[in-house]
Amino acid sequence: MHTTTLQRSAPMAPPLHQDAFAARLMEMLAIPAFVLDTGCKVMIWNRACERLTGVPGYEVIGTSDHWRSFHEAPRPSLADLVIQNRTDEIHQIYPRQVKQAGPVGNLCAESWCEMPRVGARRYLASDASPILDDDGALVAVVQTVRDMTDEKMAQISLEQLATRDGLTGLANRRCFDETLHAEWARAQRQKQPLSLLMVDVDNFKAYNDANGHLGGDECLKRIASAVASEMRANDLVARYGGEEFAVILPNQSLKGAAIVAERIRCRVERLMVPNVGAAPGHVTVSIGAATALASPEASASQLVAIADAALYRAKHMGRNRISLPVVEPMG
Ligand code: GH3
Ligand code: MG
Ligand code: MG
Repeated sequence: MHTTTLQRSAPMAPPLHQDAFAARLMEMLAIPAFVLDTGCKVMIWNRACERLTGVPGYEVIGTSDHWRSFHEAPRPSLADLVIQNRTDEIHQIYPRQVKQAGPVGNLCAESWCEMPRVGARRYLASDASPILDDDGALVAVVQTVRDMTDEKMAQISLEQLATRDGLTGLANRRCFDETLHAEWARAQRQKQPLSLLMVDVDNFKAYNDANGHLGGDECLKRIASAVASEMRANDLVARYGGEEFAVILPNQSLKGAAIVAERIRCRVERLMVPNVGAAPGHVTVSIGAATALASPEASASQLVAIADAALYRAKHMGRNRISLPVVEPMG
């Protein structure tokens, strides 16, 4: 084990002046920290901050260039906001990751930083605390920074596990259920239509029989990315289960949903994945559509039932086709 022997000052040596001691303390702190004066110039940039940012203190001390150590474009640090009395702007500048601030005058935020000098994005949690003199006047602000990248990545992986389907990378069933209910509520509030497509691979059992389960898995992945490639930004495509996918189309009329469904059907057909057990000789999908003008009397699960019934008819009519509800749209 590596050990260091600390040199001790002689017992009679004069103690460090209080200011010098404080500066030394900051310098040696294991937590990255920097201090700005009331003109937003860097007074202290400790060693841990040098290690985190890759920027030596002599480059930033006396300047207002500290942002360059964290970001590619200028962005005020929390310490700048405190000094400039702009704490209200924290929500615009650090929109997503703002925590409840601690003591009065403190600011806390978490955000991804590009760290230009290190060349690797880090997720940093920062706290800025004002330093006041005996009369309560602001003399400086200290900002401490914790590198939370590992914790953030672990959290993202857990969220992925909870919401993504392991095989296809699409949203999983749980995510679908949550999104459908949220979109249903939104459609009701905004009095907008909400459409749903249920997509089922035709004769997939035969495909598995001919190509094995692993071959079937590969085919499902290809179909999943073909379906996903037809989506707009606000649409959600999920693996509903087995060889069945569900597509949520917010603000989409039945006519629009039918167009999307037909595009998906054609896209899968164009893959021309051979399926000897299917009449056309290649893999196809059948799609059922449903649209609701969400109302308190109806429910999201009715929308699923209507799309399912339409899918069943598409199968019954010969597969490789889309089908719309026979009844009037819900609402
Ligand atoms: P249809 O045209 O009526 O939909 O017929 P089908 O053969 O597609 O439907 P069926 O419900 O009879 O069979 C579905 C098959 O999908 C059976 C099941 O083994 C397969 N399957 C479900 N999930 C997976 C999966 O994750 N991987 C693979 N390889 N196959 C799966
Ligand atoms: Mg099927
Ligand atoms: Mg099925």
